[in-house]
Amino acid sequence: MKILPVFAALVAAACSEQLFVGDQVLRITASDEEQITLLRVLGEQAELQVDFWRHPTSPGQPADLRVPFPSLQAVKIFLESNSISYSIMIEDVQELLDEEKKTMTKSRRVERSTSTFDFASYHTIDEIYYWMDMLVDDHPSLVSKIQIGQSYENRPLYVLKFSTGGSNRSAIWLDTGIHSREWITQATGIWTANKIAKEYGQDPSVTAILDSMDIFFEIVTNPDGFAFTHSSNRMWRKTRSINPSSHCVGVDPNRNWDAGFGGPGASGNPCSETYHGPYANSEPEVKAIVDFVKNHGNIKAFVSIHSYSQLLFYPYGYTSTPVPDQKELDQISKKAVAALSSLYGTNYKYGSIITTIYQASGGTIDWTYNQGIKYSFTFELRDTGRYGFLLPAKEIVPTAQETWLALKVIMLHARNHPY
Ligand SMILES: [Zn+2]
Repeated sequence: MKILPVFAALVAAACSEQLFVGDQVLRITASDEEQITLLRVLGEQAELQVDFWRHPTSPGQPADLRVPFPSLQAVKIFLESNSISYSIMIEDVQELLDEEKKTMTKSRRVERSTSTFDFASYHTIDEIYYWMDMLVDDHPSLVSKIQIGQSYENRPLYVLKFSTGGSNRSAIWLDTGIHSREWITQATGIWTANKIAKEYGQDPSVTAILDSMDIFFEIVTNPDGFAFTHSSNRMWRKTRSINPSSHCVGVDPNRNWDAGFGGPGASGNPCSETYHGPYANSEPEVKAIVDFVKNHGNIKAFVSIHSYSQLLFYPYGYTSTPVPDQKELDQISKKAVAALSSLYGTNYKYGSIITTIYQASGGTIDWTYNQGIKYSFTFELRDTGRYGFLLPAKEIVPTAQETWLALKVIMLHARNHPY
């Protein structure tokens, strides 16, 4: 079967899929503020095409940087000549991508029911949308699918609604995949939505939650970006909207919300991975949620799920002024993280965005909190950088299982503390 890799390369070339042969991910630890500034300057060098998987924050905190093969020498010389220490986290990004692809092709088949669906594999958008319909078919009195809008490239924005009745009940919102390359999040979303449907009437806390509240779950929150990660560039993070003033495509949908929009921790450069967009809510994927939340008017908890770094955040990101509910949100986080760790010992840190990672403006949960949604949280799922965005599929189910325990803490708290 020697011909296979050649064939795979030909197929990849025919689909004009971007390859990452020889790209490395470097873990860089700056020792002082000056070195952090140097790393930021490095990240701005357009010709190097480097990509921070984890941004430099404070001295001693690691940053992860993907460096394309042609830029490796220049980047390493830059780091060494400035005495910035680094190690190689991923030797060859393409090798991990090839592994990932192998597990996907193995599992790809038409899966006719939710009971035989392979939750331990990564799936395409078509497979996920097909699975959503199966879930609705299997639980017609609990689950329905609603469309809240259309993406820039006119894909439907679907939300699963879990409801046992009533009208405009107080609700919990969950979303995954707003950053498209964070594949563990959409995969966790599928497993979690299935769990919610299965546990109603079985697990007393899920039953209690759904007897008084609705749950809305958007699994593929950035469908254009997600489709693009499958067809063309596995490392795509942003939306796919065209910027009239630039050849660079896309907006960071987690910098596009109307909360400190355009402030520090977001970029005005369309080529940046954290480009905030031309104006707040410019991205239809963001605007659809904004409209939905405002029209609903009774959402009490909002959880937006990202990867990676193993963190649980509450607002704010755009200002260092603590939220009025800081104490309560901190206590919930502590409890949620303890529940998560109890299963496999996975270690999470928690806190406000600005104190735990860095200042970031225009973020989702700052906006939802300012809308009056007190229980606003963001997760950064596994891992801490060994695989980063390329988390092996065998970690999907354990990640979802442990995250579920934390989600239940948050949802149950929201249910038991109406406001
Ligand atoms: Zn993210």
